Amino acid sequence: MRNGDRWIKCISTTGNVRAVAIQARDLVQNLGDLHQLAPDGIQKLGEAIIGALMVASYCKPGERINFNLRGSGSFSRAFIDAYPDGSVRGYLDPSCCDTSKASVASLETGPWGRGVLAVLRTKDEEGMQPYIGNVPLITGHLAKDLSFYWLQSEQIPSSVGIAVKIDDNRVNVAGGFLVQAMPGASAAEITSIEKNINQIQTLVEKLSLDSDPVQLLSQIFQHTSFMLIDEKPLISNCKCSYSRVERALVLTGENELRSMLHDDGQVVVTCDFCRKEYKLDSLALGKLLKSNAES
Ligand SMILES: [Zn+2]
Repeated sequence: MRNGDRWIKCISTTGNVRAVAIQARDLVQNLGDLHQLAPDGIQKLGEAIIGALMVASYCKPGERINFNLRGSGSFSRAFIDAYPDGSVRGYLDPSCCDTSKASVASLETGPWGRGVLAVLRTKDEEGMQPYIGNVPLITGHLAKDLSFYWLQSEQIPSSVGIAVKIDDNRVNVAGGFLVQAMPGASAAEITSIEKNINQIQTLVEKLSLDSDPVQLLSQIFQHTSFMLIDEKPLISNCKCSYSRVERALVLTGENELRSMLHDDGQVVVTCDFCRKEYKLDSLALGKLLKSNAES
């Protein structure tokens, strides 16, 4: 039986170590199907989604995470939006799926190659400045580079594990964990948890045997007592809408809109995140042009 996709957060009873464990197998499968990705693309998208959800799980309600990965390997540009309510959307930029770079990236570094991970944390409230953390992708392994992100951008020592495995074109494993030492953590507490993490042979094996996030947390904490503090189902959810498409079209400028109208008499906009199509006929575009000219 498949476990439902969800994240589970916990904290040690001392309050010094916190963690989130994620199970996202169906979510990754569905997004891979939606974007018609080959196994290596599903792998990348899955890793990026799990990474973004980890960051979002520690955001406040009303915040949003934009996760922008620019690596040097094939399929290595990913855009993910994740929310603290467990909803997420994402895609890989098809314009950078240059498979010839794949071997270069994997020889020098991990599958993401070298590049930049930009994490933008925004709030819905007016006037709130977004927080941007940029870290270089150095190892090309997203889990390792993400732990560097937390240390550099948020000054929190962290251990990250992400595992995505595709067997026979189906997602068999998609999950991970983030463990963080809070300021009061003692060296003994940290060493004990580190030892437990190192005992997990491989995360892929562990999650293919049992993908339950609670079991993963139990293995990480073992003799360190902890309490579960949050559980959220993970859902794929795109916030695109007709009015957002209209606003984006207005931003392309009046000349561009007039030439679209002239060429085809209509324009079709496809959402990169959810593949939904929005059609604006000449009447709708004409109205948009008119209201734009008046404002
Ligand atoms: Zn959409």
